[in-house]
Amino acid sequence: MALSSYVFHLFYKFKVLVLVTLCLMVLWATFSYFVNSRQEISKPKSMLENFRKVTSLEDSQKEDKMESTAAVSTLKSFQGPCPTVSPYLRGAIKLTFKASLTLEEVEKENPQVAKGRYHPMECSALQHVAILIPHRNREKHLLYLLEHLHPFLQRQQLDYGIYVIHQAGNTKFNRAKLLNVGYLEALKEANWDCFIFHDVDLVPENDFNIYMCDRQPKHLVVGRNNTGYRLRYRGYFGGVTALTRDQFYKVNGFSNNYWGWGGEDDDLRIRVEMQKMRVVRPSADVARYTMIFHKRDHGNEENGERMKLLRQVSRTWKTDGLNSCSYKLLSVEHYPLYVNITVDFSMQPKIS
Ligand code: BGC
Repeated sequence: MALSSYVFHLFYKFKVLVLVTLCLMVLWATFSYFVNSRQEISKPKSMLENFRKVTSLEDSQKEDKMESTAAVSTLKSFQGPCPTVSPYLRGAIKLTFKASLTLEEVEKENPQVAKGRYHPMECSALQHVAILIPHRNREKHLLYLLEHLHPFLQRQQLDYGIYVIHQAGNTKFNRAKLLNVGYLEALKEANWDCFIFHDVDLVPENDFNIYMCDRQPKHLVVGRNNTGYRLRYRGYFGGVTALTRDQFYKVNGFSNNYWGWGGEDDDLRIRVEMQKMRVVRPSADVARYTMIFHKRDHGNEENGERMKLLRQVSRTWKTDGLNSCSYKLLSVEHYPLYVNITVDFSMQPKIS
């Protein structure tokens, strides 16, 4: 009797165990179905659907801030990629430049940017983009650019970092070499997919001008206000360009030998073409910039040597570029809105 009751009890326990296991399996299957379908929906969403979604970026950021960091990172592991067209884009924007603007004001406007970096909370960005800005004595221009660029890039749902590469001392300005330094130093911090080489005085007017890289090197400045929004010349490759990590590596970066204004951008275009790549551009109605007016800086006089240098690119590109970029790194400072890299090129020619 005792044995049969024991067997019955054991059988009952087994049945309960089977039942509980079955319930758990059903719950798990339902859960994974919802997670998968969520990820799949974000991909084929049409452009129109994205535009219809009018939630403002500010609102979603406010909501995001309320969640704890741990909760957000758990959630992120279930998130799908960001849509190919961000729902936050606004199109052409009237740019204003307030004379009294301060860095503190711009920092307050961007509480979600830390050490120059930002990533969207609601999805995982399609590209990790480093913005490289060569700089010397243009504090006001930098401030205006930061003011407009941060919200612009956030509306594009990019995972990005802004690097300002500052040339110390009184050596002639060398935009190209500063950009090589930016590329090399930024890669020490993160494995960026895409690099935007950005002049400090050009502010984008339309957020449909997407700061992501393409299969081919991309030139983003088709027109600017001071030239009637027309392309300067067919091969123009200056102002703002986007190259992937590999595209830039393949051409050995910029030449280090262009001191003063001009030529380095044409040199890069020649390198690109020599590698059988071709320059692509967004449409003229979105690739528009406002240039903040300034006089030619002292120490950045026109480079009279540039035509001579341009004739030699096919001979020099392999040994003059990323692989020969020597510099003295003075500091790398992580400010709230950008990483400030200061370099010294004083072993090179001085301003005459
Ligand atoms: C220079 C380029 C410059 C372009 C447009 C050319 O003559 O070589 O560096 O970007 O003019 O100003």
